Amino acid sequence: MITGKTKLLGVIGYPVEHSLSPLMHNAAIAHLGLNYVYVPFPIEPQNLDTAIQGFASVGVVGFSVTIPHKQTILPLLSEISPIAKAIGAVNTVSRKDNQWIGTNTDVEGFLAPLQTTYNQDWSQTVAVILGNGGAARAVVAGCAELGCAKILVIGRNPQKLEEFRNSWGNSHLAKNLHVHTWDALPKLIPQANLLVNTTPIGMYPKVEESPLSAEEMANLPPQAIAYDLIYTPNPTKFLQQAQQVGVIAIDGLEMLVQQGVAALKIWLQRDTVPVDVMRQALRQHLGLDE
Ligand code: NAP
Repeated sequence: MITGKTKLLGVIGYPVEHSLSPLMHNAAIAHLGLNYVYVPFPIEPQNLDTAIQGFASVGVVGFSVTIPHKQTILPLLSEISPIAKAIGAVNTVSRKDNQWIGTNTDVEGFLAPLQTTYNQDWSQTVAVILGNGGAARAVVAGCAELGCAKILVIGRNPQKLEEFRNSWGNSHLAKNLHVHTWDALPKLIPQANLLVNTTPIGMYPKVEESPLSAEEMANLPPQAIAYDLIYTPNPTKFLQQAQQVGVIAIDGLEMLVQQGVAALKIWLQRDTVPVDVMRQALRQHLGLDE
């Protein structure tokens, strides 16, 4: 129940009405019996500065940041965590000492299913990342944190790909980073121990599409991991192909859950939040438990 003491959390984006974050966070808040509410805020790009000032004056405790504000919010924050700085994007903002502090929990979210389920030595791993957009940046940072031997990013636009490479400067995260265009993919697949789809290819409603052909998928090394950041449909065509050739398939739902878990821990200043409740709220909404 909303009362005079209810504290405010939320997500800013434009558009934001499709965000599943309110569902996930409000389920956790209700389970914990806390007097908070998590609200979607559609904020047009030109209103970002005013909105953030307004949030400060009405006492917002923290908020998630999604497209198109993940980069443009950086100059409006007082402090940015090293990981968010390295990636160049913020997805979580919290209020501390009357200042806005930004961080990025997508890396933690991406890594969670790899580290909990497939805890292994990654130092010989060749990671091939399809796409060079915002999510690919978190995946590169995650693969660097795992200590992958090579991180190979595949893009369709040579100029954007070059900009992506240069944007890392001398960051230690980009030590093993190389970029390639899609025509190099058939040659790279047989070395790909970890293949990550960060493109929207295969996302609802284009559920019949996959970034790879079935033949290409069959050329992955044995025990490879195919990881799709997409969470709807579940599984995607890409992951169906992976299952058909017997490699490990990971979908994007756990990343979504775990980036939210990490954010909620920051806002509530708690060491634990009800991760099962958050996961279950999403699974139910996406019709995965019927
Ligand atoms: P983005 O910044 O728009 O990047 C998308 C990338 O995919 C770009 O590099 C784009 O290439 C490439 N691409 C798009 N269509 C393509 C096509 N037909 N062929 C080849 N490349 C194509 O988007 P994003 O924020 O990184 O998100 C990407 C995906 O990850 C989305 O499906 C999103 O839902 C998912 N995601 C999931 C989570 C999670 O928690 N599970 C978190 C973040 C994102 P160009 O650069 O050449 O345009």
